[in-house]
Amino acid sequence: MKQAVIRGGLETLYFSGLHHLLRPLVGGVGAILTMHHVRPPRRDAFQPNRLLEVTPEFFERLLRQIERAGLEVISLDEMHRRFIAGDFARRFVCLTFDDGYKDIKQFAYPLLKQFRMPFALFIATSFPDRLGELWWLALEAVIAQSKRIGLVIDGKDRFFDCATLKDKRALYDAIYAYLREMKDEDELRATVRDLCASSRVDLAAFCRDLCMDWAELGELAADPLCTIGAHTVNHKMLMKVADEGAVRAEMDMSRSVLEAALGRRPQHLAYPVGDPTSAGAREFRIAAELGFKTALTTRPGVLFRGHRDHLTALPRISINGEYQQPRYLKVLMSGAATAMWNGFRRINAA
Ligand SMILES: [Zn+2]
Repeated sequence: MKQAVIRGGLETLYFSGLHHLLRPLVGGVGAILTMHHVRPPRRDAFQPNRLLEVTPEFFERLLRQIERAGLEVISLDEMHRRFIAGDFARRFVCLTFDDGYKDIKQFAYPLLKQFRMPFALFIATSFPDRLGELWWLALEAVIAQSKRIGLVIDGKDRFFDCATLKDKRALYDAIYAYLREMKDEDELRATVRDLCASSRVDLAAFCRDLCMDWAELGELAADPLCTIGAHTVNHKMLMKVADEGAVRAEMDMSRSVLEAALGRRPQHLAYPVGDPTSAGAREFRIAAELGFKTALTTRPGVLFRGHRDHLTALPRISINGEYQQPRYLKVLMSGAATAMWNGFRRINAA
């Protein structure tokens, strides 16, 4: 295991924040933004998952900028209608939030209501069922509270020091990359369960403490501004699931459970993690076969007319919590960087 590994997974998910924030939101016909947490900043020095959260102040500025830029915020159903009708008179933005964290209800929802902006929540049904494993947060907690941790690698016990902040950061990146490279997510989960057990970290607590329960989701789902989308049952990287039937079941069952619990059948899906190691051609095909109107990746990019033929492989722009300064927003929202797009393929649905 390399000590200084470039942060693989979430970094692929978000790319380097700077890069995608330089990407012009106003290019193409529109864009889908994605976020995870909206909540006040924590003071801890060790926060490897900080890129997944933005502050309520930043979020409010983002909404204000969207409004000021004259971008229309629309629901995913309306986006789908526009693709089918070829109706691209006005540039649009869709706002999406993955995983259904309580802080979205507490801090983002009041602002979304105030601005009257529609939004979508993508829910892995094991989260409100309190069976979800938020392993990336558990790993952070294990390393935060340990001076040294043990891991079984290739059948051998290995030990890693993580007493200092620098060591903690390096070790998080290394273990994260090691886990993300595993061929099978069950192996990843087993490794994190072992780490939690030996460090006395309660893996189930993250789901219970951070994710909305069914009653909370029901309150949001009742608001016409809110679209509830499927995000599978167990939040696995689907490409690592060998059995196609199991992939199909993950997508289909989460839709059925959400329909039974909230009274409306989800028409949209977001692939867990959603980067090219988590969702590919097989997943795009299955989502289409299951009749989802759209399915969203985290491959970065804005939307073009041609995405009409790839509605189950749509890109999103992840708002990265490491880059919350107003100047980034300004560049993001200005059309000035459009030229940067010339080097990028417009549609990346392979
Ligand atoms: Zn997710």
